[in-house]
Amino acid sequence: MADYYSEKRREYDARVAADPMGLLPRPERSYKYDVIVCGGGTSGVAAAVAAARGGAKVLLIERNGSLGGQMNVSGPPGFSYAYLYNARGERVIDGFIGETHRRLMEMGHARPTDMNPYRSGSDYIFSFVDPEWWGLLMFQIMAEEGVTLLMHSLVVDVIKNGNDVVGVVVENAEGRVYFESKVVIECTGEGDIAVRAGCEYELLSREDSEPQSVCFTMDGVNWDELLAYLKAHPDQLVPRGDPTRTPEERYELIRNVKDIGELGDMLGFFDIMKEAKANKEWHDYAGMGFFLAPRPDVDHFQAHFQHSAQVPEIWSCDPWDLSYAEQECRRQIMIAANAFKKYVPGFKNAYITRVGMELRLREGRRIMGDYVLAKADVANSQRFYDCIGKNTFAAGAVHVANNNTIGASKEGVATVPDRGTYDMPYRMLVPRKIDNLLIAGKHVSAERATYQRFLQETMVTGQAAGAAAALCVKLGVTPRQLEAEEYVKQLQDVLREQGVILEGVH
Ligand SMILES: Cc1cc2nc3c(=O)[nH]c(=O)nc-3n(C[C@H](O)[C@H](O)[C@H](O)COP(=O)(O)OP(=O)(O)OC[C@H]3O[C@@H](n4cnc5c(N)ncnc54)[C@H](O)[C@@H]3O)c2cc1C
Repeated sequence: MADYYSEKRREYDARVAADPMGLLPRPERSYKYDVIVCGGGTSGVAAAVAAARGGAKVLLIERNGSLGGQMNVSGPPGFSYAYLYNARGERVIDGFIGETHRRLMEMGHARPTDMNPYRSGSDYIFSFVDPEWWGLLMFQIMAEEGVTLLMHSLVVDVIKNGNDVVGVVVENAEGRVYFESKVVIECTGEGDIAVRAGCEYELLSREDSEPQSVCFTMDGVNWDELLAYLKAHPDQLVPRGDPTRTPEERYELIRNVKDIGELGDMLGFFDIMKEAKANKEWHDYAGMGFFLAPRPDVDHFQAHFQHSAQVPEIWSCDPWDLSYAEQECRRQIMIAANAFKKYVPGFKNAYITRVGMELRLREGRRIMGDYVLAKADVANSQRFYDCIGKNTFAAGAVHVANNNTIGASKEGVATVPDRGTYDMPYRMLVPRKIDNLLIAGKHVSAERATYQRFLQETMVTGQAAGAAAALCVKLGVTPRQLEAEEYVKQLQDVLREQGVILEGVH
């Protein structure tokens, strides 16, 4: 396991111990950095920390005043985190994401990975962290590692010398500001900056794109009442856990659940939905269901609805589409919250505590790189010389805007053989043709079926991009030159040192 007490963190801790109530020191204002990270979501924070730990002078630019993106700003996620273990029970992903889980557990704001019998035998098991404390911790880690933050600032373009990106253009209250950088990492989630840099990308038609959603959270649920209903009607839940179980084996596990927390998420409520639909009190764009959002500090649960408002045929790069979807999602949220209160046992006195501040964008552009991760790579448990992390997540399942919520893409679903893993290659972070730019986050180079959009995937690619950028600066090479085997080995050494799992799992 990596020692996340870096030298810089020790210095930070010592300073805080000497003056516990003192203000943080203000960073020096500069317009020249080794590495600039655009976007402070999960991929961006992982990239900034890894680059700073690699010795680079780092600037992280974020359009909002908060860090975390879809993790906690337009989130929180229903499961933070899943797929850190494969269905064989092997730990397959660690590094920065593991560090955040362990640190939040030490602080009392995360739960240990829940390997309970109902969900066991699948990779869809949860290691819950409190997203609010996660967001606070990110600011602390940035301070520990000396990452300079520039917030309330929109990156609007890149500065180029031929095909080389040499800086970025920012719009903020100061006006138009220019920053120089040796390497730029694009972590906007949507690739807006990569596209301005001239990168190639893929974007599905509106009709084929997954729906986009606004999430909301409810509190005040009587969990005992809900659990009693589910024990009496275990056939009302979409199956979870080992997929080889018979329905009766699964029902028995549900009847034996002691704590609602063991269920993790609940999608189904088929009979209730039928009745609500017949009364025109449930809409056609999502199934009924929610995730448990634990507040570990007080051992309390909230109900978090990720998929109850879903709008089809929305392009994430079309502001008119997005404006329509923001409005339509709010309409669906009113319907969904009212239906839960009226029909679902335990929800009578429930109330909304949070509506996501903006759409969570499920699907958008993917930036084409020197390698395009393929569905066949998942199906073949592919190994790559330039592995930067492992993955166990199946390819090809998609959200659909109907009462099933989840479906298969046109290309079909592929699972990893023998419930093992496949490698994520460094080359999918390096965009074709354009130099000095790295892509991390959900828009890395992948086929639609292998879209790398879950939290653990975005943090793996973020950490690798940050470590790679710092190494490029140190070695005086470009991100594309770093693809050479001799340099990739050095990158892998750095990642191993940072706790990333690159080998030793199935
Ligand atoms: C409805 C929904 C539910 C989901 N639930 C889960 C879940 O339960 N578990 C899970 O693992 N995953 C879940 N996901 C997926 C996951 O949350 C996201 O894919 C992931 O968080 C994306 O991370 P990112 O860093 O790539 O992008 P983002 O989180 O989108 O971060 C991008 C950041 O860049 C900033 N930015 C954008 N443009 C600019 C610019 N021009 N200048 C400056 N800053 C900019 C944004 O403000 C943002 O902070 C869900 C996704 C959706 C849509």
